[in-house]
Amino acid sequence: MRPLVARISLDALAHNLRVARRHAGQSKILSVIKANAYGHGLTRAVRALGQTDGFAVLTVEEAANLRQMGVEKPILLLEGPFQAGEMATIADLDLMPVLHNPQQLNWLPLSHKPLSVFLKFNSGMNRLGFSLADFDGIIEQIKSYANIDQITLMTHFATADEELGIDWQWERFLGKAKLTGLPVSAANSAAFLHYPETRGEWSRLGIMLYGASPFADMTAAELELRPVMTLQSEIIAMQHLKAGEGAGYGVTFMACEVTRVGIVACGYADGYPRHAPTGTPVMVNGKRTRTLGRVSMDMLAVDITNLPDANMGSPVTLWGEGLPIEEVARHAGTISYELMCALAPRVAVVEE
Ligand SMILES: *Cc1c(COP(=O)(O)O)cnc(C)c1O
Repeated sequence: MRPLVARISLDALAHNLRVARRHAGQSKILSVIKANAYGHGLTRAVRALGQTDGFAVLTVEEAANLRQMGVEKPILLLEGPFQAGEMATIADLDLMPVLHNPQQLNWLPLSHKPLSVFLKFNSGMNRLGFSLADFDGIIEQIKSYANIDQITLMTHFATADEELGIDWQWERFLGKAKLTGLPVSAANSAAFLHYPETRGEWSRLGIMLYGASPFADMTAAELELRPVMTLQSEIIAMQHLKAGEGAGYGVTFMACEVTRVGIVACGYADGYPRHAPTGTPVMVNGKRTRTLGRVSMDMLAVDITNLPDANMGSPVTLWGEGLPIEEVARHAGTISYELMCALAPRVAVVEE
């Protein structure tokens, strides 16, 4: 069997939820499990997140899956219905849809029972949501429908993890929201951690539950989070390069001195980013080293020149325990989210 596995720690997932709970105060936690729980597996994430107050998913199909598993907690549908035809299922399954456009408001009468809804306003992200300029009219309109149970006011931050922060959006949004006295949902992981004032009635937490830091200047360990996914493999071949010899497609790495190379069973078809350049951190035998040259479809090369113990079968950690996924992502010019979500179905998963 190919030695590549993704170890998924249910313990770490439950731990990270407990860390969130410690911060949350009165705010209830919606565990965001869209995109196959950020690549960790939907059903397994649901099992580990038993202590959450609710879940957030993207599609009615995911929500139906949860209900089938016996989940009775609130389920938020992050983009609401995509078609009018989904309204009946939303009612049947007792989902809380986000409503972000006029079309979705028009579909409300199609629900055969009262719905709790998250009314989404655009406070500067300019992706989804009603304009804050139309705030009063929208509130009036939604209150005119007979089949509305609870209304929660929602917005989403564009720069909660960056220097710019959230004030520019939060003040705009809260100025309108607080006059209504309605509950609020605004925080993602970054806002939840850095801006406690945004926690509101419901926090929507994704990345921190999976044990990655949303911030460039703060590690997951500093936030007391534990990585949930560890991608592990082994050295399946070794090469000895003389100065002037290269490794891999395009020979983008050229040895300046005698170099020992380990070939690892993991490539871009497994979800390892092809754009990770020479120098991307990797761990062999528990020691840090670097990748060499281009990542192939099923393999990549690592530098074991200074790791005399490294040999055929030596364990290799691509990311996870001992090697933050955020670091690998940064080298590859992307974010931890994308690496997690890209874990390929062909990678064997070991739950622990
Ligand atoms: C995915 C998502 C979240 C979770 O964001 P994290 O940064 O992973 O915590 C929160 N809110 C919305 C609307 C989302 O789509």
